[in-house]
Amino acid sequence: MAATPASDLDWPFFDEGHRVYAAQVRQWAQQQLPPLLEGAEDSLDAVYACVRRLVTELGRAGLLRVCVPAAYGGLREQLDVRGLSLARETLARASGLADFALAMQGLGSAPVSLFGTHAQKLALLPGVAEGRTVAAFALSEPDAGSDVAALACRATRVPGGWQLDGVKTWISNAGLADSYVVFARSGQAGTRGISAFIVPASTPGLDASERIPVIAPHPLGTLRLTACCVPDDALLGEEGQGFKIAMGTLDTFRTTVGAAALGFARRALDEALLRARSRRLFGRTLAEFQLTHMKLGEMALAIDASALMVYRAAWTKDVQRRRVTREASMAKLFATESAQQVIDAAVQLWGGLGVVQGVPVERLYREIRALRIYEGASEVLKLIIGAQALEAGG
Ligand SMILES: Cc1cc2nc3c(=O)[nH]c(=O)nc-3n(C[C@H](O)[C@H](O)[C@H](O)COP(=O)(O)OP(=O)(O)OC[C@H]3O[C@@H](n4cnc5c(N)ncnc54)[C@H](O)[C@@H]3O)c2cc1C
Repeated sequence: MAATPASDLDWPFFDEGHRVYAAQVRQWAQQQLPPLLEGAEDSLDAVYACVRRLVTELGRAGLLRVCVPAAYGGLREQLDVRGLSLARETLARASGLADFALAMQGLGSAPVSLFGTHAQKLALLPGVAEGRTVAAFALSEPDAGSDVAALACRATRVPGGWQLDGVKTWISNAGLADSYVVFARSGQAGTRGISAFIVPASTPGLDASERIPVIAPHPLGTLRLTACCVPDDALLGEEGQGFKIAMGTLDTFRTTVGAAALGFARRALDEALLRARSRRLFGRTLAEFQLTHMKLGEMALAIDASALMVYRAAWTKDVQRRRVTREASMAKLFATESAQQVIDAAVQLWGGLGVVQGVPVERLYREIRALRIYEGASEVLKLIIGAQALEAGG
């Protein structure tokens, strides 16, 4: 794996702490990661075991500290989107599963970091940062994906707490997580009737055994909640704030999905260069043809433009401390769509070998696809950006 070009880390978006942290992640990915991935794709059980291993080791190396605020064992006072993005970009360049392991620790615990009480944070976040506790974010349902406001899982008040009943699906880390943030309807229809709850995996009435196999295997499944009771202090924020909590979390994490796509695209370019320099045809290397220069030029351009959009959004969130709905939507949309094209071009440059199972570009081709769907499908992001343009007048 080639190092991230020094010029990127020299960008004014970053400070010295980011450069030090990014170097630590890169070194870990080069030295510690390869043996942890051995046998990971042998079976779905092996995938789950690998992610648990990755969380433990990322925690042990101190790299998950980027996922929580400093008061609870984290790196910085508040969640730092630049640090999260650098980690995701670097890990995704090496392995989709390693990126997934870190990303879910962040996404699964962010509602608590951003909206929890001191007691809730103390109970969850140190374990997440140390890799002892696996986290998950349970928003989607069979009939409520893009249309979050349609969610139907019910939260009913009972003496001393809440009873949850319903189905959550497409939940990353389902069946592996120790703790879930579950969004459920506690009141009226629409976005104002949704609340968020911290639900330990051991809670009676929570069944997380149904797995969903996908093209790039990672822990993913369905949660069935049947008379699943949690105490009063499981409620995150106030009753009815669930939609705000979900959107506030995505406002932080959408940019990092773009960063993961950027890491995949960088790896695709690494692999394309490798192949172009070594493959001989018509008496020359593939790299000597002008058509190849053009293709590599397009790939490099898409990557740099994605990096600028990702780190512009991350910097804006961290430094200006405001909602970045527009910037994060643009970064995720542009970086994921561009990465899909860059990876497709890399597969093409590899020729027949590019579609052989287990070859890096084939793996990337499977890894990138879901990123254009989750945390805001591309079409939904275009609608958001368009609406924001109308509102802002440009
Ligand atoms: C690998 C993976 C991991 C996931 N992990 C999680 C997780 O950890 N937690 C969680 O809660 N969810 C998770 N999800 C769910 C994900 O967020 C949803 O799949 C996503 O929100 C899309 O919802 P849907 O699948 O129901 O598709 P739909 O909402 O049915 O969308 C289908 C298509 O319709 C399009 N569309 C939507 N609205 C409009 C519109 N207004 N106009 C035109 N077209 C439109 C979409 O762009 C999309 O192309 C994950 C999904 C995947 C694939």
